[in-house]
Amino acid sequence: MNYTANEDRYEKMQYRRCGNSGIKLPLISLGLWHNFGKIDDTENCRNILHTAFDNGITHFDLANNYGPPPGAAEETFGKLYNDDFKPYRDELIISSKAGYKMWNGPYGDFGSKKYLVSSLDQSLKRMKLEYVDIFYHHRPDAETPLEETMAALDLIVRQGKALYVGISNYKAEEAKKAIEMLRQLGTPCLIHQARYSMFDRWVEDKLLDVLEKEKVGCITFSSLAQGLLTNKYLTGIPEDSRIGRHLENGAITESQITSEVIEKVKKLNAIAQNRNQSLAQMALGWILKDKRITSVILGASKPKQVTEGVEAIKNIDFSKEELDKINFILQ
Ligand code: NDP
Repeated sequence: MNYTANEDRYEKMQYRRCGNSGIKLPLISLGLWHNFGKIDDTENCRNILHTAFDNGITHFDLANNYGPPPGAAEETFGKLYNDDFKPYRDELIISSKAGYKMWNGPYGDFGSKKYLVSSLDQSLKRMKLEYVDIFYHHRPDAETPLEETMAALDLIVRQGKALYVGISNYKAEEAKKAIEMLRQLGTPCLIHQARYSMFDRWVEDKLLDVLEKEKVGCITFSSLAQGLLTNKYLTGIPEDSRIGRHLENGAITESQITSEVIEKVKKLNAIAQNRNQSLAQMALGWILKDKRITSVILGASKPKQVTEGVEAIKNIDFSKEELDKINFILQ
């Protein structure tokens, strides 16, 4: 074994209960969407995972298609898990998903039972795991009956391949239906994974109310708007940034850096400085101020982004004046 985890790790993090389940998640989780593909340096990936776990981040979020190429993030994780994290399996919550295109032909996309079951089998092999802790349906599928997709999630739990299930990118009404179906099947929905940041507040409209009422957790992604809500693009586009690397597969692009956006980021940065935190920390804290949010999934290309993100939990309270100022900027 190459790695011994920091003994003080659980003192560095806080944990919130996920809905009314038995599971608590760290306020900050780590996502492996980008930065863990074949194009990325494996030793940097290893350092990011070590830094996360050493700071009490017990939850690593993956999906079948994370890379590039699709599947590569699970392979990288599988190698590093096998090298360093195996002794800590029972301290980890590892998730994966299926819902976007993964292989050719009619069975490698969307929400059929055929796709979900085979995809998870493939994910488990890549990650060298016997089971995942959470398996998600990654996006709603307008063609497959919701009953079939939810029955697939229920089956996967009964097969012992996942302990809990979740849904991602479902709107409020369809989330409510899915949650009710899963409850009737006897496999309650643990969590909903949704995009939420100061720049994208759609969940505030109805989804968070549904999740609170149904007692289902909420975990957010792209809460730094893929790096926009940090100080990194204030003076140009760094070569080693997500935009500078010209990644595909949904990654942020240069066209999203308008002068209007940068103006807002500058004003938000000034508020963060007054709070004695970085803009990244304020953006994460702003999400976590709402107790209905179980955890924020942070993406990180460097270990120091993880340590900076973890420090965010030290100040997640906002005065009314600060919130009003932020709302004014975001108008
Ligand atoms: P973020 O909004 O957290 O963006 C992460 C990026 O922000 C990093 O790669 C880094 O970019 C930059 N960054 C992070 N911290 C700092 C810092 N302190 N200072 C400067 N820059 C910083 O999230 P992601 O969009 O990456 O999503 C997070 C996770 O959420 C994913 O890994 C995945 O697990 C999940 N997800 C789920 C989806 C779903 O459909 N369910 C969709 C998308 C994501 P840089 O590379 O430029 O350094």
